[in-house]
Amino acid sequence: MEQQLEVMLREAHQAMLDADNEADLQNIRVQYLGKKGRLTAIMKDMGKLSAEQRPIVGAIANKVKDELSEVFETRMRALKQQHMAKRLEQERIDVTLPGRHQKIGTKHPVTLITEELVQIFSYLGFSVAEGPEIEEDFYNFEALNLPKDHPARDMQDTFYISDNEVLRTHTSPVQIRSMLKHQPPLRIIAPGTVYRRDSDITHSPMFHQIEGFMVDENITFGDLKGILTAFITECFGKNVGVRFRPSFFPFTEPSAEVDMQCVICGGNGCRVCKNSGWLEILGSGMIDPEVFASVNYSSEKYSGFAFGMGLERIAMLKYGVNDLRLFFENDVRFLRQFHA
Ligand SMILES: [Zn+2]
Repeated sequence: MEQQLEVMLREAHQAMLDADNEADLQNIRVQYLGKKGRLTAIMKDMGKLSAEQRPIVGAIANKVKDELSEVFETRMRALKQQHMAKRLEQERIDVTLPGRHQKIGTKHPVTLITEELVQIFSYLGFSVAEGPEIEEDFYNFEALNLPKDHPARDMQDTFYISDNEVLRTHTSPVQIRSMLKHQPPLRIIAPGTVYRRDSDITHSPMFHQIEGFMVDENITFGDLKGILTAFITECFGKNVGVRFRPSFFPFTEPSAEVDMQCVICGGNGCRVCKNSGWLEILGSGMIDPEVFASVNYSSEKYSGFAFGMGLERIAMLKYGVNDLRLFFENDVRFLRQFHA
């Protein structure tokens, strides 16, 4: 029996050292030291031994058990360490690799041009006002001297929400809201989104305008020309030519359309300016006494001018963009080109 135990010890010891993973090692332990293992099997014959031999063999058996348990523990620790080392090697992070850059977004060109225009007009003493995009008929049309039968109220142009509510077709209603809320002197600009039932290469059903107006005693057409010329030369450069052409708008009298020298060809004539050398960029005029009447301003005491322009158009000219649709397609290759 002592021999059997010795053989078993050697075999088990070697098997444990040979085990190359935790599961195999665990199996070997059960195979030799488990309840149905080799050691238990050998010890079953203890009864056949003499009374003197029994304690001696029992002590040897215990020693074998202790020794194997120790070998098992040591080997298990070693295997665990190996396993951990292997994992660390596999999941190793190379800190010398260059990092992945987070792409930083850019402002939309319409936002950029809006900010620039607000900046220029704030230098000229104007402050910003806002109004709702769903607007009442009164503010969008009636108070701006656009009577019920005016063509601009045609279903073709206006998105109606109800008989009395529309998606505002221009930023001019902010003019009415501001004048009803405040008394002159006023210098206000109102950038915002507007809507019209119009969609083709040069029109979008949703676009952006900036409205501006100035009301005080003794405001003349000369002030209008001065402010708008200052704005255009600040935005497009000192040497750009500006001209005022008589026009008609229901809410201003007299009215003028403002052209600037073509920034593409420098006034020589090209496709963009249709060979005229001039580009129409905004509408303006002296505020009509009818408009003052609708906000209870005395047109005897006060006078003023108003103007409005399309922000996409200004952005196209300023940034050299040749297709309006680029502003609304959200193609990042286009948008990324606009760094503030
Ligand atoms: Zn041109």
